[in-house]
Amino acid sequence: MDRTLAADLARLPELLDATRRAAVRALETLDARPVVPAAPAPDSVPAPPPLPEHGAGAEAALAAFQERWEPRLSASAGPRYLGFVTGGATPAALAGDWLTAVHDQNSNSALDGAGQDLERETVGWLRELFGLSGAHRGTLVSGATMSNTTGLAIAREWLGERAGVSPAEDGAAALGPVRVLSAAPHSSIAKALSVLGLGRRSLVAVPTLPGREAVDPAALDRALADTPGPAVVVANAGTVNTVDFDDLRAVAALKDRHDFWLHTDAAFGAFAALSPDHAHLVAGLDASDSLCVDLHKWLNVPYDSAVQFTRRPDLQARVFRNAAAYLGPLGDHPDLVHLTPENSHRLRALAAWFTLRAYGRRGHREIVERDIACARALGAELDRDPAFRLLSPVRLNVVCFTLAADPTPARLAALREAAAADVFVTPTRYAGTPALRAAFSNWRTTQADVRRAAAALRTAARDTA
Ligand SMILES: *Cc1c(COP(=O)(O)O)cnc(C)c1O
Repeated sequence: MDRTLAADLARLPELLDATRRAAVRALETLDARPVVPAAPAPDSVPAPPPLPEHGAGAEAALAAFQERWEPRLSASAGPRYLGFVTGGATPAALAGDWLTAVHDQNSNSALDGAGQDLERETVGWLRELFGLSGAHRGTLVSGATMSNTTGLAIAREWLGERAGVSPAEDGAAALGPVRVLSAAPHSSIAKALSVLGLGRRSLVAVPTLPGREAVDPAALDRALADTPGPAVVVANAGTVNTVDFDDLRAVAALKDRHDFWLHTDAAFGAFAALSPDHAHLVAGLDASDSLCVDLHKWLNVPYDSAVQFTRRPDLQARVFRNAAAYLGPLGDHPDLVHLTPENSHRLRALAAWFTLRAYGRRGHREIVERDIACARALGAELDRDPAFRLLSPVRLNVVCFTLAADPTPARLAALREAAAADVFVTPTRYAGTPALRAAFSNWRTTQADVRRAAAALRTAARDTA
């Protein structure tokens, strides 16, 4: 054994202690550090060092990381990182994630089965959390993009079943032209269609209700009537700009008259089911043939984690079957290696298992409801301030807003940067207007953070006017 490696092995408990101390320091300073540190001037960044010929051991690596890289990392695990839709990691989720690396399991086959049993238990809990019936099977993947891709791959195979071909065997070309109908799909849907050989152009934009991002069910009805043969509908349960929801029951009811696969992107919107005041937004979710939910957003587990549910695990296995002499037959409960694009993967379910076991439905409901209350409070503060203008009511956990006067992308960028030490928001464009989004999905965020964020945005708006 390499001498440095052997020395690290001999001192493993001390190394883990040093790492624990570094973790505690990083978490204790989340509130005090800039939410997003200013990027260093390009000429102040030293050239990357060459690959070390002889290593100096884990403690030296830790010191180098703390000196060179840690100061440049954002406080995205903290309460005022409101960009994109970003969760943190609950204490239990963090513990679960650490132990995922400690046990370093490849939880994909029954030959070494406890990992996939743990994943199945976790998926069962998630199904209950989102109020799904027993009709869906689920698998964990790395994020909502991969979940959408997997769901649409199953949809592709379903289209094949209807046409008497198998795209998994014969290629996507066996299908002929495919139409994927959606009103306000997330960008990852087009990416998935590109990956799956269906093509970005297969996406057909369906009109929304006036002034909304939610689909107009009557327009969807007409679009389906215009579609020759079976189609795929992507319903959206929580759009990223204004967190609008398609009426899932109305969409599903169209199945009485049209033949389509219903995929629902509920990456973070599914968590509305945890709040009795908001659960109506996702009524009908269970009717989805496939369904995408991110876990590294509102469940607050570390990256990278999402779940994919489907009512047709048989088609899923047809697509992702990984035939190998050592893996054996598929059976009724195929090993996870046969159900997702990944073969080997980490025991990703453990962090979700930990946080659900630790805090239960009530604990996670409290996080969701507190984040919603925070979004409403920031929305109300900005609405009262003549410098800002809300572009949409706050339906759930996102505030979509802009400057009342002269909201050019350049001014909004200046505002974002001026506020970035205290609050991080991300740019968008809504109904043609350059805008900003503040998304609440971190378990740490409180009303005190909302006040600090609002003050920082106000000051930045004044200073950059
Ligand atoms: C975040 C998000 C995605 C993509 O999720 P990743 O985890 O980044 O892959 C897809 N759809 C919606 C609605 C999202 O909010």
